[in-house]
Amino acid sequence: MKYYSTNKQSPSVSLQEAVTKGLAPDKGLYMPEKIKSLPDEFYKNIGNMSFQEMAYRVADAFFGEDIEPDTLKNMVYDTLNFDAPLVHVNDHIYSLELFHGPTLAFKDVGARFMARLLGYFIKKQGQSNINVLVATSGDTGSAVANGFLGVDGIHVYVLYPKGLVSEIQEKQFTTLGKNITAVEIDGTFDDCQRLVKSAFLDEELNAKLNLTSANSINVARFLPQAFYYFYAYAQALKQGKADNVVICVPSGNFGNITAGLFAKRMGLPVKRFIASNNKNDVFLEYLQTGKYNPRPSVATIANAMDVGDPSNFVRILDLYHHNHKNICAEISGCRYTDDEIRKTMRDVYKQTNYLLDPHGACGYAALRDLLQKDETGIFLETAHPAKFLETVENTIQSSVPIPEKLQAFMKKEKQSIPMGKEFEEFKRFLSESVGN
Ligand SMILES: *Cc1c(COP(=O)(O)O)cnc(C)c1O
Repeated sequence: MKYYSTNKQSPSVSLQEAVTKGLAPDKGLYMPEKIKSLPDEFYKNIGNMSFQEMAYRVADAFFGEDIEPDTLKNMVYDTLNFDAPLVHVNDHIYSLELFHGPTLAFKDVGARFMARLLGYFIKKQGQSNINVLVATSGDTGSAVANGFLGVDGIHVYVLYPKGLVSEIQEKQFTTLGKNITAVEIDGTFDDCQRLVKSAFLDEELNAKLNLTSANSINVARFLPQAFYYFYAYAQALKQGKADNVVICVPSGNFGNITAGLFAKRMGLPVKRFIASNNKNDVFLEYLQTGKYNPRPSVATIANAMDVGDPSNFVRILDLYHHNHKNICAEISGCRYTDDEIRKTMRDVYKQTNYLLDPHGACGYAALRDLLQKDETGIFLETAHPAKFLETVENTIQSSVPIPEKLQAFMKKEKQSIPMGKEFEEFKRFLSESVGN
């Protein structure tokens, strides 16, 4: 299958090129030229399929033209070696728990799949020195670093904003060593994202180095996120709750929700979507006014959503042919302040004993506020609450047990390279440290 750029100023490319390049030369994001519907037979049987089985069918629709069936099947099955249970929280509200992977956040799915796909292409090409650049506001870094750890021929550089990620998050990508280097930027997440983008567009660097991205702009990370929307629906179906399903996605760069919109295009019977935001609400403003005004991000307690210029917004525009009315018909929005997020966490914990993380709390709150009587709401619980330990413990005024997987990271020593936010410094560093 071919992939075109959302800016339509550079040629369509193969899957292999879209995955190894990340960003299109015209700075657009790659989109698959077809979104295939899955057949009725698939939807009839969805309730009887395992997560891995249905994910393979979805993966086949995207990647089946480019990868042999057995190889693709192995990639999907290896990626999804953990569950994503749908858990009842309250009234008509369910949590799709996406925190059962190795770094306890939904980004494990896309990162693990991308590491396998990129590894496959590199082997096929006989290459051995690919450099993955990834900007993180917290969870991307850990998921990508752990997904790629020890993969031959790939070195990963994780750029993160100094002091703006939690200690637990930081430990998950600064303690690994091997082919993982953490770069601590004196700036915001948007600065990190800009540095990565600048590196991809710098001709001198690209002449010298094989650079690629593992941010959610990469189709290999972005598309596999569709898998669990099908699984959410299948579980709702089994519980007799599949009519009028509304899915609410705590959103930052809008990669996760866009994968859900793709699932709907493939025929998944989801009635509508809600994008829930923290104070960084440029998307909500777009829904309300039709105008998109990117601005610098502001720091919140749901820090993985602190994004002022969501990179996947252009994919949503492209998917709906820039039609504001059609976008509003399928997606609504919400915004929550830190106080509202804290209150939601406290209230839900008191009423139901269910512990939300600050991101999932935005998702829950939007369903609480916007769900209609005949609808079933599913919010994506995007990370385990223990990843935001201080915030969560201070909010609910009690201690939160730390899962063993996280404790193992906490015991290790942080190693990072401090750096300013000017591109020249980062460029010099890359030129000097790579390939020597
Ligand atoms: C990355 C992340 C988000 C935002 O996802 P996007 O795909 O960037 O919209 C939400 N919650 C958590 C915990 C995250 O790590």
